Amino acid sequence: MKQSRALIHTLREVPKDADVISQQLMMRAGMILKLAAGIYDYLPLAHRSIQKLQQIVREELEADGCQELLMPAVQPAELWQESGRWQFYGKELLRFKDRKDGDFCLGPTHEEVITDIVRRTIKSYKQLPINLFQFQGKFRDEIRPRFGLMRCREFIMKDGYSFHINNEDADREYWVMFNAYKRIFSRVGVKFRPVEADSGAIGGSFTHEFHVLAGSGEDAILSCDSCDYTSNMEKTEAPQLPWAYPQEAEHPLMKAHFSTPGIIAMEEQARAFKDENHDGLPLDHASKFYLCRAVKGENTRDVGLVIRSDHEPNLVKLRNLLIADSMELVPLEEAERLSGAKSGFIGPVELDVPMYADRSLEGAYNLTCGANKTDYHHFGFKPDRDLKQFKGFFDLRMAIEGDACPRCKSGRFQAFRGIEVGQVFKLGTKYSASMGCTYLDADGKAIPMVMGCYGLGVTRTISAVIEQNYDADGIIWPWPVAPYHVHLLCLDPANSEILNVAENLEKTLESNGIETLLDDREGLTAGVRFKDADLLGFPLRVVVSAKGLKDGHVELRDRRTKEMIIVKPEELLNAVMETRERDKRKRPENT
Ligand code: ATP
Ligand code: MG
Repeated sequence: MKQSRALIHTLREVPKDADVISQQLMMRAGMILKLAAGIYDYLPLAHRSIQKLQQIVREELEADGCQELLMPAVQPAELWQESGRWQFYGKELLRFKDRKDGDFCLGPTHEEVITDIVRRTIKSYKQLPINLFQFQGKFRDEIRPRFGLMRCREFIMKDGYSFHINNEDADREYWVMFNAYKRIFSRVGVKFRPVEADSGAIGGSFTHEFHVLAGSGEDAILSCDSCDYTSNMEKTEAPQLPWAYPQEAEHPLMKAHFSTPGIIAMEEQARAFKDENHDGLPLDHASKFYLCRAVKGENTRDVGLVIRSDHEPNLVKLRNLLIADSMELVPLEEAERLSGAKSGFIGPVELDVPMYADRSLEGAYNLTCGANKTDYHHFGFKPDRDLKQFKGFFDLRMAIEGDACPRCKSGRFQAFRGIEVGQVFKLGTKYSASMGCTYLDADGKAIPMVMGCYGLGVTRTISAVIEQNYDADGIIWPWPVAPYHVHLLCLDPANSEILNVAENLEKTLESNGIETLLDDREGLTAGVRFKDADLLGFPLRVVVSAKGLKDGHVELRDRRTKEMIIVKPEELLNAVMETRERDKRKRPENT
């Protein structure tokens, strides 16, 4: 491809509204243009990378017997009413009416449509299992679209769905897809981890997210330094911590025992505690209390969460424990009104709601807690003894870096930041049961199919690749998803002899499968061409110049290692092929 004919507009300046590196570089490299908040044009260079990624995904899924199809982006409300999601999917679902006043939405995901397809086309157990996927533009009206292609409103997703006669077969396929995702991200050339994720009310370990590791990632991940356990922080099991003061004498609950005017910070609260026997307490003697609201369908109910003050609460764990749809904190003014005390002094003892305590408090006593009286704390608190509606000790805190791994018991957690690029999920019969997607078994009985779904964020993955592969000068594309492999710079395009050599090299490379962009633009300095080449970041740069050709050579430079070699024009193809092979062998190690 001749650059003089290509739509590639590079920018020297960092665009003002670009907040992460991948967005800055993609805008500067002329890959994307913002059309509206969270809505982008994918220009030719981006489109090439997207096509390559899609081809890798397609090959790996087809190798496992999946079939590609394409569903409409516009979906009728009736299907969503059948599954029950029309009402519960929030404002992310963009709804609209057609000219006949019919309700429609733009698909944020396609469970309803695929379930409809399968219920209309598959009748017998003999036709199962089946695994279908598509590449498609999804629309989610995200509240805060940001980070370029990472959190858009319109984005490209590969979504796949499988249908099975029973749980065992759905479980088998789950691991087939899990392994396909591992192959896909390894082929792309990124460092990633499969991460145990929160499966909400469905429970079990049947969902993994795939994360590309990058400092700019929105998700916190904990990974054991000794075993395989890697999990999204909100779901990571926290280790049990025994009460560290068994020698202390146990006190009864001493209500509003100490005055703590204006002391809200937990450390200060513990340190401030003084009486005839105590001169300040260790931080883990202070408990914290959260009044929470569980939402289930149309009902809400308030519950209490008690944790050690040096821990952070985990509302996702509490939500899962109570099998609620969502869990939120009761708004502060309301909590103050219900407890009769200012924030900082609200405590569990007087409140008559079901109380759940973190298991690190199991066996603990002599704790402090808010007294529901402004400026006062109780002392001698013991959750299982002093709470009216005590429900037990559970894992309800955030695990943190440095915690002992509860799985292998020998390692410790390390923290990473990740970008969620894919998720595999066992759905069960949630959609097939509500939408009547059944098959007839050998006895002619209708049974709901068991489903799995497998998402992969195509455009987000492209950003994630860049977040992991760049330097001060620009992008450093891994070969498999680079828009072009070679950037061939002709420093003297006005000289027809030199241009001719460059064009012949372009032909040779192209006809051997090396995708080449020839910078044949006129009237540019070498410096501008070099800067553009670094910014666009194709794996190899080749320089053809009058000076070099006079000495009988062209110059080949590796974008990643910056290694430069001089070769004869007729040796260029071999040198390029060799570098590509070497690069393949050096792909990042993945778990
Ligand atoms: P997130 O938690 O980041 O909002 P999600 O869990 O809602 O994502 P899924 O429904 O699992 O997303 O969608 C499958 C994949 O689609 C995700 O793993 C992600 O890579 C991609 N994706 C989801 N939302 C967006 C978005 N707003 N912009 C770009 N890609 C997205
Ligand atoms: Mg997800």
